[in-house]
Amino acid sequence: MKQFKTESKKLLDLMINSIYTNREIFLRELISNGSDAIDKLSFKALTDPSIELGADELAIRLAFDKDARTITVRDNGIGMTEQELDENLGTIAHSGSEAFKEENAEHQGDDIDIIGQFGVGFYSSFMVASRVRVVSRAFGSDQAFAWESDGVSGYTVAPAEPGELDGAGEHGTVVTLYLRESEVEGEDSPDKFLSEWGLRDLVRRYSNYVRHPVQMMVTRSRELPKPEDAGDDYTPQYESYQELETLNSMTPIWKKRSSEVEQADYDEFYTSTFHDWEKPARTISFHAEGAISYDALLFIPSRAPFDLYTKDYEKGLALYSSNVLIQEKCGELLPDYYNFVRGVVDSPDVTLNISRETLQHNSQLRAIERRVERKVKDELLAMMRDDREAYEKFFENFGRGIKFGIYNSFGASAGDLADLLLFWSAREGKMVSFAEYAAAMGADQDKIYYAAGDSRERLEKTPVVKSAVDHGFDVLLATADVDEFMFQGMRSYHAQAVAGDSEHKGTDERDLNLVNVSTADLDFATEEEKAAAEKAGEEHASVFEAVKEALGEKVVDVRASARAGEAPACISTEGPVSLEMERIMADGPEGMMAPGARRVLELNAGHPVFAKLTAAQEAGDTARIELYASLLYDQALLMEGLPVDDPVAFARNVCELM
Ligand code: ADP
Repeated sequence: MKQFKTESKKLLDLMINSIYTNREIFLRELISNGSDAIDKLSFKALTDPSIELGADELAIRLAFDKDARTITVRDNGIGMTEQELDENLGTIAHSGSEAFKEENAEHQGDDIDIIGQFGVGFYSSFMVASRVRVVSRAFGSDQAFAWESDGVSGYTVAPAEPGELDGAGEHGTVVTLYLRESEVEGEDSPDKFLSEWGLRDLVRRYSNYVRHPVQMMVTRSRELPKPEDAGDDYTPQYESYQELETLNSMTPIWKKRSSEVEQADYDEFYTSTFHDWEKPARTISFHAEGAISYDALLFIPSRAPFDLYTKDYEKGLALYSSNVLIQEKCGELLPDYYNFVRGVVDSPDVTLNISRETLQHNSQLRAIERRVERKVKDELLAMMRDDREAYEKFFENFGRGIKFGIYNSFGASAGDLADLLLFWSAREGKMVSFAEYAAAMGADQDKIYYAAGDSRERLEKTPVVKSAVDHGFDVLLATADVDEFMFQGMRSYHAQAVAGDSEHKGTDERDLNLVNVSTADLDFATEEEKAAAEKAGEEHASVFEAVKEALGEKVVDVRASARAGEAPACISTEGPVSLEMERIMADGPEGMMAPGARRVLELNAGHPVFAKLTAAQEAGDTARIELYASLLYDQALLMEGLPVDDPVAFARNVCELM
């Protein structure tokens, strides 16, 4: 018996004991080896005209024996000589052993990482098998050899028994796995692999697009012809028969140019692969060539999966390398804010590897991700342009994630994502993008105004929003929790030149600050209105002073306002925390120290109520002033959709007034 190399031994041990969750990949590894062996033989035939091969005969065959607990994978590819069996299968990661040593030094004690450092291919068999026998006959040789091992003590190589290679023919390899007894109950127990459906499922999932046919003898049943003399009480008779079934589809849909594929086929592929019953909203197919080549097929779903906003949701694209599935959900291929995108990336340049750890550090994946990101954005912008209705539906479903993308990057992703956002426009009465807002605003406007709150209907009615719109300024109504926090991260929107937008010539590209309309130092009033308010403020300074005193700590200031419109008063804030942010933070986890908003009560000096206040002040009626101040303040809060501090006191005050 020959011994495995030291590092191989260690790796085998890890292999057998560490990765149970991924054990079903063993089949994809063996099929992939078989497919490579067929490729090598085809290549040889291509370069040596004396070799004749019937291309359709080259295939990979699967079989299983439930009683003997074996699975066999055979291919009629190039095969291995005695020496090749020894060299290729005697050293794990033959080509990668140097890399192994290096990585090993870095990852002392980090078992899983070590496994992931390079392709362990064939050895994954030992995750499910207690013994593996490989019989192989190299093309052009007349003797087959058998390699056998339990994966622990070592291996033997000896001439094969006559007839052992039968299934493969003149050349090729038969790998027989002697499965372990079930150790783990449930889905990934090896028993699953001892069934037609189990193997078919594994092939469909992991090797569907292997270029060569992967076949299996399957048992089918058919009705026997009805005998001529059958009476009326004849019941149909059935017989079972064996038939060779090709389990894989062989031509990947993503390799085809989109012009060759019907949308219906994409839809079918999408719904069956990603288990959605609605067709995708958009399909994106592209092919990259260069330093790293790949084919990508992406879908934007029509609706959000039910678990999208839960922590169980896993983003990612299926990653194939040369038609072999490497990872079902490779998260590195998608930024978080596009986590709803489904699809496939297939690149011969990505190394076949079982470990996510390794993939994470792969700069190739980063390069693909960037391209995917751009493609998705372009598609979404196109959708916004030419199918507005669908886009608005999309945004309703997935907009939240995009907003979080901006928020989580502290605004850094805003350059990429801001153009995808939509908000309700108070003036237009429909959803608009920042770009549309900017294009529609007057030449003298240099900011984007928004109002934040939980309901569009209520925001529309607030005095400040009405005042802004009355004065010709549109206001975006931000009703999602994340909106205002995101705006604070963004600070501004970078407006691009708008074609034909002569008003903004010379200042075509500009940064428009995002400003909450209830910011205290903001006023949409005309100069005259402002002057009037200022005058009132000066004239009745003592009234404002008295109201402020009455409200105490509740406000930082009381001022005359020109923007309260028809209302007697409104509330604005100073500093970075708005009333809406205060509300959201107060709803946050308990014990979170939420900073309060610095509130300013603005009084409408033109309102009849103000005259009452002045009268009370002149009469020196402090109790009245206190009553009015308290009522005006509570009223302004209610208009903002905020609870009053003390509902009992509010009710009492109203009664007293009546
Ligand atoms: P990898 O396929 O990543 O190189 P494996 O451990 O799966 O690593 O296989 C090691 C080597 O053994 C392969 O590179 C190949 O040369 C050889 N080999 C494995 N399976 C077969 C097969 N079915 N036919 C011919 N050669 C094979």
